Amino acid sequence: MIDFTLTENDQRILDEIRRQSLVCRQYARYYDEHEDEFPPDRLPEAADFRNPYKVVDVPDDGDTPRRVLHMLVAACQAWGDYGVMMKRGQRALGNLVLDVAGTPEQQQRWGHLTLAIAITEPGCGSDAKTLRTSAVLDGDEWVLNGEKIFVTTGCRCDGIVAAATIDRSAGYRAIHPFVVLKGTPGFEVTHREKKLGIHADDTATMVFQDARIPRDQLLGGDEKSTGGFSAVMSALNATRPAVGIAGLGIAQAALDFTREQLALEGIEVEWSAGIRSRSAAQQALIEIEADIEAALLDMLYAAWLSDGSTWQRLETTIAKAKSGEVARSAVRRCLDLLGALGISHDYLVEKWFRDARITDLSGGTGEIQRLIIAREILGYSSAELC
Ligand SMILES: Cc1cc2nc3c(=O)[nH]c(=O)nc-3n(C[C@H](O)[C@H](O)[C@H](O)COP(=O)(O)OP(=O)(O)OC[C@H]3O[C@@H](n4cnc5c(N)ncnc54)[C@H](O)[C@@H]3O)c2cc1C
Repeated sequence: MIDFTLTENDQRILDEIRRQSLVCRQYARYYDEHEDEFPPDRLPEAADFRNPYKVVDVPDDGDTPRRVLHMLVAACQAWGDYGVMMKRGQRALGNLVLDVAGTPEQQQRWGHLTLAIAITEPGCGSDAKTLRTSAVLDGDEWVLNGEKIFVTTGCRCDGIVAAATIDRSAGYRAIHPFVVLKGTPGFEVTHREKKLGIHADDTATMVFQDARIPRDQLLGGDEKSTGGFSAVMSALNATRPAVGIAGLGIAQAALDFTREQLALEGIEVEWSAGIRSRSAAQQALIEIEADIEAALLDMLYAAWLSDGSTWQRLETTIAKAKSGEVARSAVRRCLDLLGALGISHDYLVEKWFRDARITDLSGGTGEIQRLIIAREILGYSSAELC
């Protein structure tokens, strides 16, 4: 039976993460205003706190399933700030592709590095099958040419997993993941994006100009045994919950702040009062809370179904679609309720408004999530429903 009731141990863990998140929040405005800087890998306060995931991974009897608790921890962290972490994890999205598509030897060789994922190109975003970055075999080396944009952690990372085609005429089957390390001649980060929100997270453009990499840097070993395009896509599927739950953490932060501010003006939700005796502001608070709760339950359900296995595609996509939409609408409604205070730089709500937008974009836009859901439910292929 599904039961998301938290045990005392779960609650202790989440309380500790919440305290850490409040510390991270103190740095949020600084890194929002200093987009050219990186938040430190470890905040000075980190010595006083335990690593949240290490704590979560020592379960007590009857504790919430690990993946569900991981989601709650991630929501709590984003509630503090989307990009500033007490202690930054070493892994990035490319590491997920390495896990799925790399040989044991490749995982051993590069697993300790921070690997970003580079799929998106100018003119190729939602439909990754149309990417044009090429990889041509020349002796014992692949020669890469092309451009990648919007690569998360592209500046900070040690290298990337780049999706490239070995034969443009052969469609998506010719797309494979390649590990390209920083310092490879012909491979360069050319631009750091200035974005609407999540300034603490870097987003890079990178170019390959006759970048030569050893043949064995194709994940899977060779072009016949690699997981190819499906490995890249399954890693993308695995990133969606993290992006979606972050959106809900941001939305909850905005709601908590709005509640506090309205309470100062004497506006509090009177739960026992009927709908006819509630003000519009009280009703809005109830609706925002219900939306966040519904999206959170979708996400926890997907996590519960996927505990100990790969993320279930349909439920994960539903949860990402819902959370992206709710994150945007909840924060916008909070902004509306707060009036001028909502857009003031003295508070973080205007930042959360900007940050939330991205959670309905990266990892696949809301429109694309809904397309995937329709295909899954109706049994259409991507060629039949696009
Ligand atoms: C902060 C951030 C981080 C990112 N990180 C990464 C990363 O690490 N690695 C990486 O490779 N990419 C990354 N991306 C890129 C991201 O995955 C793409 O921006 C996203 O997939 C959308 O692609 P696009 O921007 O080219 O938009 P397009 O594909 O051009 O779409 C434009 C609009 O049209 C809609 N649309 C497109 N096709 C359809 C359709 N068939 N039906 C209905 N609507 C449709 C889209 O939803 C969107 O609203 C990141 C983006 C952002 C903003």
